[in-house]
Amino acid sequence: MASLGIPRNTIEILQKYHFNFQKKFGQNFLIDTSVLERIMKAAEITKDDFCLEIGPGIGTMTQYLAETAREVVAVEIDKNLIPILEDTLSDYENVTVINDDILKLDIPKIVEERNGGRPIKVVANLPYYITTPIIMGLFEKQIPVQSITVMVQKEVAERMQAGPGTKDYGALSLAVQYYAEPKVVANVPPNCFIPRPNVGSAVIRLTRHEKPAVQVEDERKMFSLIKASFGQRRKTLVNSLSNAPELGISRDHAAAALEKMGLPPMIRGEALTLEQFAELSNRISVFFAESEG
Ligand code: SAM
Repeated sequence: MASLGIPRNTIEILQKYHFNFQKKFGQNFLIDTSVLERIMKAAEITKDDFCLEIGPGIGTMTQYLAETAREVVAVEIDKNLIPILEDTLSDYENVTVINDDILKLDIPKIVEERNGGRPIKVVANLPYYITTPIIMGLFEKQIPVQSITVMVQKEVAERMQAGPGTKDYGALSLAVQYYAEPKVVANVPPNCFIPRPNVGSAVIRLTRHEKPAVQVEDERKMFSLIKASFGQRRKTLVNSLSNAPELGISRDHAAAALEKMGLPPMIRGEALTLEQFAELSNRISVFFAESEG
């Protein structure tokens, strides 16, 4: 099968099957072999690897994965693409296409059955409308994932990689960096896709930490704290935290915790590192324990 990364071949397949793009599924198919090669290089797939591809489209990247990996499972929501995938992937015996919604699929079960529960590599040109739930789902559901190499909207890639004090830094940066080390490996312009997206894109590789980047007593509390801290960016941290009813933290407790950490009382959430959020979360738990006990 000729490479679908060559625009002429993609157009031929789309015409053969009278395929209509569905905007609601975020369908922008890659038509650039050099970008496909960059993704494959960054993903570092070997013949030992089990790969999960999210949204194979017409199978353009799936063909590269099938050539390189031991086994590929590709999950595609659009049933109209299934006959096309049967055609474009007919040469490969190591690919299984599942027609389902990635957000509803029992991925741990697949990993257990097909890879003996060992870590997998995820590779995808993601549907941008569900980037965050897909990535956070992979991390939070305790799926054994070694790395995630994905095409996302450029701004989202920048947010994932951002550090304290920058405009892109926020809850997504901290959530991603808690679980993984992010690295943007390529910027990709709209003309590498059909149809062209309205936004710039980037390929990012998230290499999962063996253990989360920081130790925290209560993960959920830390993430609630982070969410509240960035909810109102222009407020001080003490104001943001004491104004979030779900946290139940008084101004005095928030201010005392910051003081114990040697941080100024007027500091904003965007100035804190992940380590500092973890420490703050642990200190606030101590206040709770003291006030409850
Ligand atoms: N991998 C192909 C490529 O690079 O040319 C297509 C990428 S396109 C940006 C995103 C793909 O994800 C589409 O094929 C779309 O139908 C599929 N998709 C959208 N939502 C999905 C979901 N919830 N579960 C699985 N696939 C989904």
